[in-house]
Amino acid sequence: MKILILGAGGFIGSHMVEHLISMGEHDVVGVDITHEKLAGIEGENFIFHEMDVRQDDEPVRGLIGDADLVVDLVAYANPSLYNTTPLEVFDLNFYQNMKVLRMCLENEGVKLVQYSSAEVYGKLTEGERYYEDESDSVFGPVDKQRWIYATSKVLLERVIHGHGTAGNIEYTIIRPFNFCGSRIDYLVPANSQGGPRVFAHFMSALLTGGRIQLVDGGDAHRSFLHVWDANRAFQTILDNPSATRNQIFNVGNPDNNITIRDLASLMIELYEELTGETSRSDVVDVDGEEFYGEGYEDSDRLVPDITKIRSLGWEPEYNLRDTLRETMEYYLKQWTEVGEGLLTG
Ligand code: UDP
Repeated sequence: MKILILGAGGFIGSHMVEHLISMGEHDVVGVDITHEKLAGIEGENFIFHEMDVRQDDEPVRGLIGDADLVVDLVAYANPSLYNTTPLEVFDLNFYQNMKVLRMCLENEGVKLVQYSSAEVYGKLTEGERYYEDESDSVFGPVDKQRWIYATSKVLLERVIHGHGTAGNIEYTIIRPFNFCGSRIDYLVPANSQGGPRVFAHFMSALLTGGRIQLVDGGDAHRSFLHVWDANRAFQTILDNPSATRNQIFNVGNPDNNITIRDLASLMIELYEELTGETSRSDVVDVDGEEFYGEGYEDSDRLVPDITKIRSLGWEPEYNLRDTLRETMEYYLKQWTEVGEGLLTG
């Protein structure tokens, strides 16, 4: 197949490209506005185009016209942006993805793999699990801007599903639950707020000796999945075209569920184990709206049910400790090589 990856330069995309190059089964075309995360990732079956799906309509349409499978990873997936730039989040995560969908619809026979989000479930109460085809979605009020991301993704899923049931396209939707691994995010100076996702914040704090900040008590849960397992899940989708046609899959590791407070303790423990040094970072509590800006509300994000993708033979293999340890090792190596130049912002 010819696989077009939109958003190939991001965290998930760059790992997907690496995986597909190593498999050597398909021709892979990558599109993104940046390619730093693809540095050193090369293969005879991979071509990269620097393009912006927001502007380069005709070139992107041409690439979609040539593809057998389009993987759409284009998104802002960083909670700090949901509050500060909700309209940009809506534009990219809904409108621009809709444009990609329309281009796919023009190209009969192309299949779409759309990366969505665990956040489409919104807030569930403790004890509940997320089932792809059964769970309800509950979101906060409109003035809690955080939900612009989730609702953009829900709407996109609904339109794709509508076209799927009308027989206009074959699609698979993946709902990622906190993929984690090398290149996940940029690091930030000590005591920064907003910015990247939690792993990068805690890693930055450990490296700089800054504070580890627990938003709203650190009681929220997340299930972390090693990006290597995420690549294997994607491969499972490729290997099972008929079972995955017009289906939605949770991709996560229910065994790697942890509160953010416990994540902080575990990362401190791993940091001390890996470096042989005592952590200089204090763990402090911060208010969510102070950290992210007005309109922040957390997504509790409890345990994903993965029965559906398990039935295709996929099983996550990395436990939480090894997932975090490997990712931390990557950033510790970078820190040794680059030092403070690694910090953005
Ligand atoms: N969080 C935190 N401290 C930080 C960064 C994030 O306590 O320095 C919390 C955040 O409030 C949320 C969780 O960590 O409960 C995960 O946030 P992340 O930014 O990784 O993204 P999300 O999983 O919400 O998409």
